[in-house]
Amino acid sequence: MTDYASFLGERTFVIFLLHGVIRADTHPVRNYNKKHLPLDEFTAILESLCRSGAAVSMPQIVSASLGADPLPPRAFAVTFDDGFENVYSVAAPVLRRLGLPATFYFTTKFVDENAPSWVDMIDYAVEITSSFRLSLPFVAGPRVYDTPRKKRELLESIRGFVKSNPAIDPYEFAEEVWRQLDVKVMKPDPELDQKLSWEKVRALADDDLFTIGGHSHTHRILEYLSQAELGEEIATSLNKLRSNINKPIKHYSYPEGLANCYSDRVIAALKSHGIVCSPTAEHGVNRLGDDLFRLKRIAVT
Ligand SMILES: [Zn+2]
Repeated sequence: MTDYASFLGERTFVIFLLHGVIRADTHPVRNYNKKHLPLDEFTAILESLCRSGAAVSMPQIVSASLGADPLPPRAFAVTFDDGFENVYSVAAPVLRRLGLPATFYFTTKFVDENAPSWVDMIDYAVEITSSFRLSLPFVAGPRVYDTPRKKRELLESIRGFVKSNPAIDPYEFAEEVWRQLDVKVMKPDPELDQKLSWEKVRALADDDLFTIGGHSHTHRILEYLSQAELGEEIATSLNKLRSNINKPIKHYSYPEGLANCYSDRVIAALKSHGIVCSPTAEHGVNRLGDDLFRLKRIAVT
């Protein structure tokens, strides 16, 4: 198991990136990348971080960056992207017990409709179909996928292809995979697919330990959108969050968050909507004074 405390430093701060926490991991294909961390590992990692570091919130990082109270040595923040229900029912009780602040970045369509991301749509279809042939634009000829290892490699290659191709609509790509695998509907897995309701988002927002931020409306890569679509994604997500929790929303994180997923144009659009900080998903630690829209995170997997 990775020693996440080894990332902490005297003059740096670390932002950890998580998605979900589940009670037991029974999904070798779908959860191959440990997007959802088993509860015992999650608890052990957080307890270790609390023993050797100083937990801070994303608002504290922003105010320290703007010249207010400096951050303590070995500072770290915990963040969750997307809005899986298990962050409310499984992760939040551990965070409360440890008195550990956390920031939750929500994709508002996921909350509105309990909708799956394109990644989860594809992962789901590949897991439930025991053996299948699939034709892909980046592989010569159809191939057979019939073992967990082949399926995991397939999922990894699809992610890489879709995320690096601005011309591809990720949801149309997921629909095409469903068509080829003859998957018509998704039977959501209660642990991996359930998203928070607005009521549960409000319950997190009402807890002073927690900060709520945006993470787009549909989880499309912001840099790949036209100026009009970009404005629509950001405005829709923030209007829904602001009206549902009745609090100012100043924090955001970029869907996918890699270097090709955001830009000065995306940052300017977020700033024009009142956002003060948006960490990336690029790997690394940060120093005070770093650009609040280019902060790096360490993925916990
Ligand atoms: Zn995300």
